[in-house]
Amino acid sequence: MLQIVIASNNKNKIREIKKLYPNLDLKSLAELNISDEAEEDGQTFRENAAKKALYIAQKYHVITLADDSGLCCLGLALAPGVHSARYASDHNDALNNAKLVKEISSIKNKKAYYACAICIALPNGKTYLKEKKCYGRIILTPKGQGGFGYDPYFYLPKLNKTMAEISLEEKNMISHRAKALKALKPIFRKLEKKYDNK
Ligand code: IMP
Repeated sequence: MLQIVIASNNKNKIREIKKLYPNLDLKSLAELNISDEAEEDGQTFRENAAKKALYIAQKYHVITLADDSGLCCLGLALAPGVHSARYASDHNDALNNAKLVKEISSIKNKKAYYACAICIALPNGKTYLKEKKCYGRIILTPKGQGGFGYDPYFYLPKLNKTMAEISLEEKNMISHRAKALKALKPIFRKLEKKYDNK
């Protein structure tokens, strides 16, 4: 089985990625006792994803996958964008969501999208990158218990549900992350042929 390290400690992201590719041997950083990560100081999701994947791939000589994702609100000049995880406070969903509601409540245009850039990096420095979006609208009252991050506030008009009201299987049919991962399927195939020695 092809082993790929996921350069993240975000359990929710890892769960979504593993569910989509059960036939790959996907390992989180924690599972490999790796405790360092590249700093997310890029201006774009693509830049951050590439930086995170290359850092682990080249330092630990492993094929690495990194996800950089976030929420972009059209009425807020695409904020929180690359700062989504630390909009109000580092990886504190409650505070980040409270800030989102405060900032957007007086704005008419509540359209938003999630964006996700996924980069696969090889130890020799080669990278493969895809970025995808998922469109919706921000609501001011949270709905649903599933998902993570901004999901209870991210309303999907086509489903008449928030991202937190749908199952993981449903999220993996429509999400920004799932679309980016699916776009990389030919690369996973290619790497399996080249590096899978079983
Ligand atoms: P990253 O770890 O810097 O990529 O952080 C991404 C942040 O964007 C997360 O902490 C969430 O706040 C937000 N985010 C990204 N993807 C999702 C999602 O699928 N649902 C909800 N929030 C998300």
